[in-house]
Amino acid sequence: MKVKLHHWIFIGMGGGLLVGLLLWVMELSPERLASITWWLDLFGAKIFTGALKMLVAPLIFTSIVAAVVSLGTPGELGRIGVKALVYYGVTTTVAVTIGLVLVLSIQPGMKGKRQELRSNVEAELAAAGDEFQGKVGKISNAPREPKEILANTIKDILSNPFFALTHSKSLGIIFFSILLGIAITACGEAGQPAAAFFKSLSVAMFKLTTWIMSISPLFIACLIASMVAKNGPEVFLTLGWYALTVILGILLHVVFLLTLVKFVGKKSPMEFLLGIREAWAIAFSTRSSAATLPVTLHCLKKKLGVSEKTSDFVLPLGATVNMDGTALYEGVAVLFLIQLFGGLEGAAGLDPATLGFTTILIIFITAVLASVGAAAVPDAGLVTMVLVATAVGLDVRFLPFIFAIDAFLDMFRTSTNVMGDSIGAVIIDRLEGESPPAAAA
Ligand code: ASP
Repeated sequence: MKVKLHHWIFIGMGGGLLVGLLLWVMELSPERLASITWWLDLFGAKIFTGALKMLVAPLIFTSIVAAVVSLGTPGELGRIGVKALVYYGVTTTVAVTIGLVLVLSIQPGMKGKRQELRSNVEAELAAAGDEFQGKVGKISNAPREPKEILANTIKDILSNPFFALTHSKSLGIIFFSILLGIAITACGEAGQPAAAFFKSLSVAMFKLTTWIMSISPLFIACLIASMVAKNGPEVFLTLGWYALTVILGILLHVVFLLTLVKFVGKKSPMEFLLGIREAWAIAFSTRSSAATLPVTLHCLKKKLGVSEKTSDFVLPLGATVNMDGTALYEGVAVLFLIQLFGGLEGAAGLDPATLGFTTILIIFITAVLASVGAAAVPDAGLVTMVLVATAVGLDVRFLPFIFAIDAFLDMFRTSTNVMGDSIGAVIIDRLEGESPPAAAA
């Protein structure tokens, strides 16, 4: 049997897991471990994720302009846009609801070593802060108010397109690309050379993606090995219930999404899963929906037969604003911390035993907003969680407590984000009459 790329990718994931576990059980000195993971990160995070990220900004630009010029009328564009936004709204709402119901019923923060942690809280937080200084730095400048997020979003949308391209400001690239596409179409005959240029460039970007995909298995192994070697399984001792709640929520949400793909997208869940397996694996290992976007586009068009115009328009938009896994995680994380530390200094008004409906509603709304505002890069969910925590009066000094397990949970939420975007594209394509049901069965 010929070993295909997707087999190699899963072999790479398994090999990476084994190497990572081996490095972890060897109990190497911190210096030795740091020097090995430096090499793993060079190949995994720097070279592979870097190569994918290199494609993202030009890919969003060319794909969206190519999609808009293929759509023909602004009415068609508006129709697809509205369907996408309704889909994102519904699925994100369901994701947060699943997360909140689970965290309120499982109560992971009330289990395990709660009393010990509470009586030792200052030492625990200081140790977490020291260990994860990089992540603490990221949250210290994060926006804390919805108004700040709104102002930043508008600034991103209306930025100089060259600035947006060089700084990977996806909203700015998307907005400018849509306008440019509409303008090219409105120019009629005179716009045709520009339309052909973008369509052709979009095909070339596709070619670049296939080249990078063909070398992915070894690099994926490096990403996973580094992640496992650095974190090790011991984080589960203190954060196991919390991780379990997030992962269970994500699994339930995936079941919901697959039900949608079957009944609304009219595609068999198995065919869908087989079609996006490369994108899923790359999202899981790179922890970035943006870096995965080239591969997601490839899988949807090539494997699942979703039309160019739907995937080129809906997937970049989804990768930027639709993050079901992140939304679910934000709600669970903040409620977990309230259960664990509520009533202490910095969370004085938050008694987990009598948490009011209003607090839960604020968490619900801000978790949705925070997921929309999160960038499609690793750890982004941590940064926007500052908004959720601040909105209910939970001091951000508690956040480092969950940093140890965050990279691991990021793998699950990013792969769910990518799955949500992909199902959105399948469903919208079907509703637009682009994928005939016969092909989908
Ligand atoms: N890493 C996630 C993504 O790229 C965002 C997050 O941190 O939740 O989709």
